[in-house]
Amino acid sequence: HVRSNSAVEHAAPLAARLRGDLIAPDDPGYDEARRVWNRMIDKRPAAIARCADAEDVAAAVRHAAARGLPLAVRGGGHNVAGTAVVDDGLVVDLSAMRGVHIDASGRTVHVEGGATWADVDRVTAPLGRATPGGVVSETGVAGLALSGGVSHQRRRDGMTVDNLVSADVVLADGRRVRASAEEHPDLHWALRGGGGNFGVVTSFELRLHQLGPQVFTLNVAYPLEAAARVLRDWRDAVADAPDELSTAGLIWSLPVVEELPAGLRGLPYVGLSGMWAGDPAEGERATRGLRELTAPLIDMSATIDYLDFQRSLDPFFGAGPRRYWKALYLDGFPGAAIDATVERSARRPSNDTLVIVRHCGGAISRVGAAETAFGDRSSEWMLSVDSTWHDPIDDAVNIAYTREFWNAALPWSDGKTYFNFPGLFEEGDAAVRDSYGANHARLEEIKAAYDPDNRFRLNQNIRAVAA
Ligand code: FAD
Repeated sequence: HVRSNSAVEHAAPLAARLRGDLIAPDDPGYDEARRVWNRMIDKRPAAIARCADAEDVAAAVRHAAARGLPLAVRGGGHNVAGTAVVDDGLVVDLSAMRGVHIDASGRTVHVEGGATWADVDRVTAPLGRATPGGVVSETGVAGLALSGGVSHQRRRDGMTVDNLVSADVVLADGRRVRASAEEHPDLHWALRGGGGNFGVVTSFELRLHQLGPQVFTLNVAYPLEAAARVLRDWRDAVADAPDELSTAGLIWSLPVVEELPAGLRGLPYVGLSGMWAGDPAEGERATRGLRELTAPLIDMSATIDYLDFQRSLDPFFGAGPRRYWKALYLDGFPGAAIDATVERSARRPSNDTLVIVRHCGGAISRVGAAETAFGDRSSEWMLSVDSTWHDPIDDAVNIAYTREFWNAALPWSDGKTYFNFPGLFEEGDAAVRDSYGANHARLEEIKAAYDPDNRFRLNQNIRAVAA
């Protein structure tokens, strides 16, 4: 591998300017610092600027621009496509900027750009408050909050982008601005779904909602043979569900853990999961039918602390395996789509691969397509094929499987993808344009105003087009 020596030499002036650390290829922490969650990704940056504050971020962005270095921005490092690192470029790493504090008004929470959802939940959950975020607490806030944000309370509280009140941003020229409904409203609009295209967010201000401390959680596993019927019954039952109920239908394998009877360990199953964002007793009553569709293999539904629920999936989504995920919004979930999903899921090349259909709608769909950059919200169902395996020798078969699954689902979709679950970003410009729909042209204009040279390009990239 050839490294750009000039890039390394030129890092010295930046190192002198930073309050945080500049990590170069010869430094002992380099391999750890360049690693991201998806272990398929193996990039070697010229340097990693582990920023301590917004001034560090501005210095790093200016440095990369002055030297023409490719720029990557790292929040929680969990993007499946590994866009937080870049070969021979500079990584603006916010992983040391994880402060979280509740606003004096009590209505919002301020979250630094490198925080994880665990950092947020730890502060808000004990107060019976939450902002809708990721369902795996070790994932980053930043990437998720800029491209959508599909939480356990999504149908009641909307997507994370719908709760972004303001953001402190370092722009491509190193300037620092605040984006809100009053200040730089065009940038505020673009940040709510436009991803990392417009600048580095050093702090997010997110709306808080009443939740918990305890919530009712649905988690029931049925035999795989019943999958077609279970998914149909689930679809029909939740179609008119109250906003408090957000659920998903999934095909996965039970974990290989001692807590389960030997006969169930590793067994493929069809499952229903979700949460009632309201009174737990009401949630228990409202979901009873979903737990009795047929005889379950195991029913782990329970009233638990929201904080514990938010951590409960962490052990199943650790860094280590190889990952390739793709997601697509479906216009509906008709019987033919269910049958195709079940049939393909039964042929998963890896037992660890999760196929999940999330029920969206509710508060998500009540936000107009033009109100945020995210765009159209009319599709109530989101299919995600989360391929997960361990041996590089199996890369090709798992990637091909995921793509084929995704392509086969296109007839039930208008082609809108969910940018937070992309594989290796091979969809390209056409998919980006299709997914943003009528908002794409406005995004191009805002890109021209804030990042005309496309410094921030490791994302669902928008090109600058002057108005
Ligand atoms: P990073 O890899 O650090 O960043 C991704 C991209 O975001 C960067 O390339 C950059 O373009 C941009 N970016 C990062 N930080 C900043 C910043 N401070 N300012 C500007 N741009 C920035 N999504 C959901 O909606 N709901 C879920 O429940 C959910 N669960 C997940 C569970 C797992 C295990 C994983 C791996 C992903 C999950 N996701 C979920 C998807 C998740 O939203 C994306 O992977 C997201 O990109 C992660 O954000 P990050 O900050 O960790 O990513």
